[in-house]
Amino acid sequence: MKLSELKNGEHAVIVKVYGHGGFRKRIIEMGFIKGKTIEVMLNAPLQDPVKYKLMGYEVSLRRQEAEMIEVLTEAEEKPLDSPASPQGMKVEEENSRHKGINPEDHPDDYLQHMALREHRTINVALVGNPNCGKTSLFNFASGAHGHVGNYSGVTVDASEAHASYFGYEFNLTDLPGTYSLSCYSPEELYVRQHLTEQTPDVIINVIDSSNIERNLYLTTQLLDMDIPMVAALNMYDEFERRGDSLDLKVLSTLLGTPLVPTSFKSGMGVEALFRTVIQVYEGVSHTARHIHINYGHEIEDGIRHIQSYLKPDGSINPRYSTRYVSLKLLEHDTNIENFVRQKAGERSKSILVERDKAAARVFEETNSDSETAIMDAKYGFINGALTEAHFKAGNKQDTYKTTHIIDNVLSNKYLGFPIFFLILFLMFQTTFVLGQYPMDWIDAGVGWLGEFVSRTMADGPLKDMLVDGVIGGVGAVIVFLPQILILYFFISLMEDSGYMARAAFIMDKLMHGMGLHGKSFIPLVMGFGCNVPAIMATRTIESRRSRLITMLILPFMSCSARLPIYIMIIGTFFAVEYQSFVMLSLYAIGIVTAVIVSKLFSTFVIKGEDTPFVMELPPYRWPTAKAIVRHTWEKGKEYLKKMGGIILVASIIVWALGYYGPEGQASDMEQSYIGLMGQWISPLFSPQGFTWQLDVSLIAGVGAKEIVASTIGVLGGLEGISPLVAYSYLLFVLLYFPCIATVVAIRHESGSWGWAVFAAVYTTLLAWAVSAVVYQLGSL
Ligand code: GDP
Ligand code: MG
Repeated sequence: MKLSELKNGEHAVIVKVYGHGGFRKRIIEMGFIKGKTIEVMLNAPLQDPVKYKLMGYEVSLRRQEAEMIEVLTEAEEKPLDSPASPQGMKVEEENSRHKGINPEDHPDDYLQHMALREHRTINVALVGNPNCGKTSLFNFASGAHGHVGNYSGVTVDASEAHASYFGYEFNLTDLPGTYSLSCYSPEELYVRQHLTEQTPDVIINVIDSSNIERNLYLTTQLLDMDIPMVAALNMYDEFERRGDSLDLKVLSTLLGTPLVPTSFKSGMGVEALFRTVIQVYEGVSHTARHIHINYGHEIEDGIRHIQSYLKPDGSINPRYSTRYVSLKLLEHDTNIENFVRQKAGERSKSILVERDKAAARVFEETNSDSETAIMDAKYGFINGALTEAHFKAGNKQDTYKTTHIIDNVLSNKYLGFPIFFLILFLMFQTTFVLGQYPMDWIDAGVGWLGEFVSRTMADGPLKDMLVDGVIGGVGAVIVFLPQILILYFFISLMEDSGYMARAAFIMDKLMHGMGLHGKSFIPLVMGFGCNVPAIMATRTIESRRSRLITMLILPFMSCSARLPIYIMIIGTFFAVEYQSFVMLSLYAIGIVTAVIVSKLFSTFVIKGEDTPFVMELPPYRWPTAKAIVRHTWEKGKEYLKKMGGIILVASIIVWALGYYGPEGQASDMEQSYIGLMGQWISPLFSPQGFTWQLDVSLIAGVGAKEIVASTIGVLGGLEGISPLVAYSYLLFVLLYFPCIATVVAIRHESGSWGWAVFAAVYTTLLAWAVSAVVYQLGSL
């Protein structure tokens, strides 16, 4: 039967995965392999997607995709082939890299002594699945303030930091989390490129030991790449609490990789980990050796066959081993295919022909395509190694026990959505209501400062610049710092606890309706904070199409930079009892526009198919106060930096343009440069009824939206405006040109200026049209 037909609570054994290349590969990599038991845990409130338990972890899949997986229930069950192909667990040893030196012979002081003699720096890359604790290690070791999240893909870029242990210096690179190193998602490609191009001295492969089998899949790929490696068996606290058992020595030997049990929450094992890294780096580790995973004779024959055609071609060798290239060719890895085409030139054609021959033979012999056969063999190897190392999952305590109780409420059919929206409501309510108090204090402080300066300083342009330009402009913006901190506090809380992944789970069906992915939801929510990190967070979306659409509609999420303008204008033009309604309407219109545009884009502009919704649902974890405070503060700092830089400069420029005119110091604003500019472009905005001050502020806002508010603050430009004009203006601000930073981020993430310019132009045209229509209709 199909996996989709399985009911809640039922379990079955996986028989086969249907479907085309990318889909299949993704699904298999996540552990949906022949012979594994799978259990249906829970449906999302809209009945789709569904949460499954597999290999001891939890994952969600859309029904439509579950249809592609053939399973066998206990009732139907016939004896199946064991998933562990016995030959898979044999480990071949080749040119033992580090021979016979016992690390125990090298106590700390010896290492320190060696290091002091020759000051050494070791480049270390942290590689691992999402949520395995890489960032925690990174922060722990370096004292840096990377963000720790419990949602896959919070780390969207590599961050670097320094650490020192035993007199050695470490350059740590925290790479994005990946389940695999095939090149299906930008993150995977990024990590792979980092490993091959930056060639770190040692990799720390962080393994979530509460989910060891699936985590080792990535390890097997790292073994293929043959870079010196140490594995951190992290979350060892949970491992012990559950009563799991594993012979670390045996597994280390089988993998040719030292394994160090760690817990980055408490810092347990971190020193041992770095000591081991030093040993591997110095070549004195006796466990570290180069192993070849034996893929079974069918695939090994294929590898040898291709190798024999690569060997004469020396051009391949410098970066990759021929074995690795052959293996990747058998996997039909496009990245390596291109590499071969580039390096081998003319000869590449015949190499690829030979690859096809080898792949065809693998198919004949194993009855599955070479890609699948390799994945199966990898899991076979893992299974064999774990059996050999007497791995047993304990049942003293179920890591997921609490998670199940929480999920039964938070993803409940009836309660899921109400709770979710309640959380969002609470988040915004707290941001605005609670944030009001510190905001008032800062506002009072800014007012006092302005007054103080104007009282004490001698009259002149300098005083005017300080009071009206610097204090007026920056002050209009700095008051929002508390609200931004509160908003990010909530977002960090949701990410770190694991709720963000549930939000994606709950929202997937709706997002799918918009042509998007459940994962698009998180960046969209983050967009309410700031569009720039939100655009970067779209990297977690594997489907390029969903990702591009998400980026293009993101600017409609009202970022906090727009808040100052909203509050300023709404506070001036609307009665108190309508204020929050007007505010809410802006957010709602932004969201509705995003939905419509996304639907249009996915139907007409960016066509293509979706990638599967395989998403890990990590267990809920208590976020640590330290991580939350750090992340919140990081964001606040970014905001302050922006203020010190671009907003300060822009405020002074705007002030100067308003202070001076063609005839020197302008007697009134209309004679100033800015006034002339405003009058010059005003015909453009006549359908909206904007004043020239408003026009100018919109232009100034291209740099950053906060500048719109500060410009109005400097120009004092809210006189003679009707509430209708004010509202059309708010709509324009909501929809038009995302700030320059966002456009640059889109360019960066989409890889083309084309899409960035497209985003800037279409949003501005839309803003112009919508605000014109509203004003015209309203003045009828
Ligand atoms: P990354 O995605 O690999 O960077 O993982 P993070 O460092 O963001 O960690 C994911 C979650 O696991 C966070 O909530 C951490 O607090 C938690 N965590 C990290 N290491 C450990 C550990 O050793 N034990 C436990 N219990 N939790 C951990
Ligand atoms: Mg991380």
